[in-house]
Amino acid sequence: MKYSLPFLDDYVLLSANGSITVDVSLKDVYDFSLPGKYDVVFEADIMDYVVSQNMLSLFPRNRGAFTPYLGVVSNSLQITTQESLAPEAMKAPYPCSSQETSQINSAASSQRSMISAAFSAINQGDSSYYKEWFGAYTDARWNIGSSCISAIRGNSVVRYACDDQRGVYAYVYPADSSHTIYCCEAFWTAPNAGGFDTKAGTLIHELSHFNNICGTDDWVYGVAAARNLAATNPNRALDNADNYEYFSEVQW
Ligand SMILES: [Zn+2]
Repeated sequence: MKYSLPFLDDYVLLSANGSITVDVSLKDVYDFSLPGKYDVVFEADIMDYVVSQNMLSLFPRNRGAFTPYLGVVSNSLQITTQESLAPEAMKAPYPCSSQETSQINSAASSQRSMISAAFSAINQGDSSYYKEWFGAYTDARWNIGSSCISAIRGNSVVRYACDDQRGVYAYVYPADSSHTIYCCEAFWTAPNAGGFDTKAGTLIHELSHFNNICGTDDWVYGVAAARNLAATNPNRALDNADNYEYFSEVQW
């Protein structure tokens, strides 16, 4: 899954010491296929906050301006499930239009050039690009990054579908062996290639999620957070989809 930055009306204004209650369905986004005990801890960075209401005009799309992020960790909540919980059908894919298909085809073509360039770049070993997106070099870690980029490059089975999810570039089901990438609302306004958060780069991000390609997760999103992850937790950077996307996009 790759999200776009939020729009202004995605924000909820919470005053100091204020509170808000929201119901969420954990099984729609986490794997509860095995019955048993789960410990749930909410752990997040508050990425956008302002110290006065006047500063609200800086939003949306000014993420990263208010670093350091504010870390929030909840108490642990214990849940016991009796049976396998399947996610609700929350997706509404539709067949892509001819215009959408043509944009996807261009993006797929650029993606192939981009990942080839990334493959050359990772084969330079301990480079400044490597350090920027995957952190401190070790041979063992390089092997992980190199294998992943090689697997994305070598992948030939890809299908595409369209969905209208707001604020989402694209998503996949990691276990899906047909490698279907669902392109969503934010995908259409992204540049094809050149710079960050492009269509071609999004396809690399999504391909990296498939279990039989790299099996990456989304530990953090965005350029600033991905760079920071490389600097502070290289092992996690090598398991983070955006880090592969950005490493590849800067080779374009
Ligand atoms: Zn993702």
